[in-house]
Amino acid sequence: NIVYLNGEFLPIEQASISVMDRGFLFADSVYEVIPVYAGRPFRLVQHIERLNRSLNAIRLSLSDLNIQWNDLFSELISQNNLQQGSLYLQVTRGSPSKRDHRLADETQPTVFIKADCLASNSSKTQNEPEALKVITVDDFRWQRCDIKSTGLLANCLARQMAEDQQASEAIFIAGEQVNEGSASNVFIVEQGVIKTPPLSNNILGGITRDLVLEMADNNGWPTEQSSIRLEQLYHADEVWLTSSSREIQPVTQVDDKTIGDGAIGPLWHKIVHEFADFKQRLFSG
Ligand code: PMP
Repeated sequence: NIVYLNGEFLPIEQASISVMDRGFLFADSVYEVIPVYAGRPFRLVQHIERLNRSLNAIRLSLSDLNIQWNDLFSELISQNNLQQGSLYLQVTRGSPSKRDHRLADETQPTVFIKADCLASNSSKTQNEPEALKVITVDDFRWQRCDIKSTGLLANCLARQMAEDQQASEAIFIAGEQVNEGSASNVFIVEQGVIKTPPLSNNILGGITRDLVLEMADNNGWPTEQSSIRLEQLYHADEVWLTSSSREIQPVTQVDDKTIGDGAIGPLWHKIVHEFADFKQRLFSG
């Protein structure tokens, strides 16, 4: 596995950073996971835009480094012979000489990119869809979930709570309000309308979320970005999770409640069909 670290391409075993790195000490760091299909990054522009929003939000500028993401990704994809998988990209505020809460700006950021072959079975989802069970947990995260920060301890703990109950994901609920999964966005279908919580500080604006809304609009399927209550989630006709690695997955159980009639819903079949077509069109020719 060849990775990119601070201007160099090298085997992962040889890639190392300082123990003073602020990514390590403070999780002072942001990241992206970019799917790769047919050897090409998927929705690259959107991922880079979101990275820039995260960097701005944490007041970290890469302008001195003059990074050409396109070139780095192409090189890494080719060096790893990656066809289907993802790129993991992380930027930290680097390694100052002293541990200090203040955001010293003279340190060089750390830029790390790794190529991963597809581990999940996401491309199989269409042929052999797996209906998921999820749990809900109190949203005990900070109030800037719109930043794609590597400070993911709350997300990891929540995901483990799901795991402990043989569930695939934990959905964060604040009061009565559905926010998002530990690493995914949430959609429900209610009387034919595809609904997802609106963008806010409480959720990460998922690239897959945007794509689902876009595909629904293109097909004239009604969508609504509005807050969703826990009761609505329990009584929805369909529930989906979306993320770059999960793509669009159907949920048929939330806590001890069965969703709809317990079978994967018709709109899910339509949207994944559309998603497959979308990728096909993009990468054919
Ligand atoms: N919310 C959270 C908390 C996430 O970690 C992710 C996955 N990165 C998402 C939503 C989905 O975002 P995307 O579709 O861009 O992968």
